[in-house]
Amino acid sequence: MESTWNSAIPLSLPDITEKEIAAVTQVLQSGRLSIGPRQARFEEMVAERAGRRHGIAVNSGTSGLHLALLALGIGPGDEVITTPFSFVASTNCILYTGATPVFVDIDPRSLNMDPEKVEAAITPRTKAILAVEVFGNPTHMDRIAAIANAHEIALVEDCCEALGGKCREKPVGSFGRVGVFAFFPNKQITTGEGGMIVTDDDRVAALCRSLRNQGRALEGFGDLPGEACGNRLGSWLAHERLGYNYRLSELACALGIAQMERLDDILDARRRVAMSYMNRIMDWKEVILPTIPAGHANSMSWFVFVIRLAHEYDQVARDRIIQGLRRHEIGASNYFPCIHLQPYMRERFGCKPGDYPMAESVSGRTIALPFYNKLDETQIELICHTLRIMIQREGLLKKE
Ligand SMILES: *Cc1c(COP(=O)(O)O)cnc(C)c1O
Repeated sequence: MESTWNSAIPLSLPDITEKEIAAVTQVLQSGRLSIGPRQARFEEMVAERAGRRHGIAVNSGTSGLHLALLALGIGPGDEVITTPFSFVASTNCILYTGATPVFVDIDPRSLNMDPEKVEAAITPRTKAILAVEVFGNPTHMDRIAAIANAHEIALVEDCCEALGGKCREKPVGSFGRVGVFAFFPNKQITTGEGGMIVTDDDRVAALCRSLRNQGRALEGFGDLPGEACGNRLGSWLAHERLGYNYRLSELACALGIAQMERLDDILDARRRVAMSYMNRIMDWKEVILPTIPAGHANSMSWFVFVIRLAHEYDQVARDRIIQGLRRHEIGASNYFPCIHLQPYMRERFGCKPGDYPMAESVSGRTIALPFYNKLDETQIELICHTLRIMIQREGLLKKE
């Protein structure tokens, strides 16, 4: 795809090559479209990357988080500590189980939960901490894991935005009792829709496998409906517990395998784009750049490129800048509106502005810029140039 100065630039774009297309076509030709060898291979690859023994493929990151919490026995009456500055799925999965989300405010540098506030929020009812590596930044995951261990509370790592990142040399996905990745088309790698639960815990893994497959006891080859499966005859219609259909198709898993094989190249390409933005925007006093974790032992897995306007700008100005970019056919978004201020959260829990000041202050000034591997220098230049004009216009409006 060629880029020209006047073609639209989307916010995100998956990186699909002939390799991915061939892999999916092969599955279509094989006749085996679900529960087959690709699922097992894809699970192995993601688990290995996260340094974990088990991978359980599911049909979305949200489904994965739901099953992770269920497998840990979380339900009504339990509290789960989490961040108000994230994609809504990280709180919704807590609500699905009937447990109560307990928000703690963020650290304005990493944009992840402030570890001290996490510790202060623990009560006798706290059953888990659900921590997110926001925008792919792994900072604090080690400290939050230490707090969870010290208090004997399970850590669920929502690493849906951070595949391939590292915190103190340890891979993202290896910090919690359970970790969950996601493969929606805007993530680092995609399966269209999809997710992956990773864990070292045999019991949690077995429960997740059963729960994603209608509560069946056994799963694997020979478990397709109507297939002869030897001494496991009838297992397809034996349901030990209330389960779900959260399975991921073989087409999606084949796509996932092809993407995983290219993961390091994909991450490098994303890093190049991020650095190009950084170098261009570095000296603008109106903009706060993402804080990259210090030291080579920690590394971002770039999910999105989100800048923040300086403190003198408000949400109205920010929204006008986003609209301005979009008028020029440049994708832009307000990642993320605070979860506690979403209408359904206000209604149910009485959350209100002022509850989590840091998250709110950050959230009102963020702008996600177009971000994907193939973004070229000409396009990045055009985006920065247009952004610059929009910001300068806000400056003129303020003086009037
Ligand atoms: C993407 C994402 C998810 C899962 O999203 P799905 O669309 O269900 O795959 C969960 N949590 C966070 C923080 C995410 O960014």
